[in-house]
Amino acid sequence: MSIADACKNFLAEISPSFPPERLQKDEPMWKHTTFRVGGPADCLLYPATGEEVRRILSLIKRYELPLTILGNGSDVLVRDKGIRGVVLAFGQPAAYIRQEGTRLLLGPGTLLSAVAQYAAEHGLTGLEFAAGIPGSVGGAVFMNAGAYDGEMKDIVSRIDAFDEAGRVVAYRGEDAYFGYRYSVFQDNSHIINQIELTLAAGNTEAICQKMTEFNERRRQKQPLEYPSAGSTFKRPLGHFAGTLIDEVGLKGFSIGDAQVSEKHAGFIINRGHATAGDILALIAEVQRRVFLARGVELVPEVRIIGEV
Ligand SMILES: Cc1cc2nc3c(=O)[nH]c(=O)nc-3n(C[C@H](O)[C@H](O)[C@H](O)COP(=O)(O)OP(=O)(O)OC[C@H]3O[C@@H](n4cnc5c(N)ncnc54)[C@H](O)[C@@H]3O)c2cc1C
Repeated sequence: MSIADACKNFLAEISPSFPPERLQKDEPMWKHTTFRVGGPADCLLYPATGEEVRRILSLIKRYELPLTILGNGSDVLVRDKGIRGVVLAFGQPAAYIRQEGTRLLLGPGTLLSAVAQYAAEHGLTGLEFAAGIPGSVGGAVFMNAGAYDGEMKDIVSRIDAFDEAGRVVAYRGEDAYFGYRYSVFQDNSHIINQIELTLAAGNTEAICQKMTEFNERRRQKQPLEYPSAGSTFKRPLGHFAGTLIDEVGLKGFSIGDAQVSEKHAGFIINRGHATAGDILALIAEVQRRVFLARGVELVPEVRIIGEV
């Protein structure tokens, strides 16, 4: 059976019992990514509960459909041809915050910024670093997102995930093998369904002040006025990607509407009408020129997905 036919069957089976506002067909992915590029996904669903995720997984298995997981779309570059099969996206419907003392239980779609704000208001410290990271908690665990003086590794104490068969797998923080922009979920494709953070008691005023300082630093240094996916490349050992790119004279260099930011060379920005093709060509050119001039291989941090 073709993927298109399998998708039709999948939709016919799930549509009668899935809220239509959380199920989209041929959905343009530029609407769901901070780069604002990307072709259509055959089928995109926003689950609200673990039960819904399990049901979707069992149908995906039955119809042998390819599956892509998405959070807030702030670290992905979706190719122009879009995504075949099913995209399972974790957003507002899968967002919740439950507090048990200094521990927070979080839905995978909860925005990091919202959790940081909640923690500050409730006098919990440890999440200040994340206030300006525009991802979901699920995506942040997957990427081990970090900034300034912290990373998810420092505060994640438990993760409940689903394997491909929909079985629950519980991880302690150390079982996630967090490393620089790495977690085990990048290799086992388990779906993160609930996250527990362990924070510490702190002073709301001091926490808010730290968050304001970090956000101000971001505003000064990062091109937040343009769509992007944050740092395009991982930090190469012993270097900074932005400094290398600047040194080889690529600040401001463009292909189509994709540009190496003039404000921060570590960011590729979409000046308005960039395609994923423009951004991919620019990534390749930056890699080529930095390697030729400095012998350093730049590896994208942003996850490139979709039909080639
Ligand atoms: C302006 C800007 C600034 C940024 N600054 C930072 C920064 O300071 N530090 C930093 O680390 N990052 C930064 N980022 C990158 C990005 O915000 C983080 O990596 C963030 O954690 C990604 O979360 P997301 O929900 O958007 O994930 P997505 O981009 O949606 O997905 C990223 C990956 O996670 C997987 N994933 C998402 N949710 C789940 C889930 N529930 N289960 C399993 N897999 C899942 C996806 O399959 C995908 O492979 C920045 C991005 C922007 C646009």
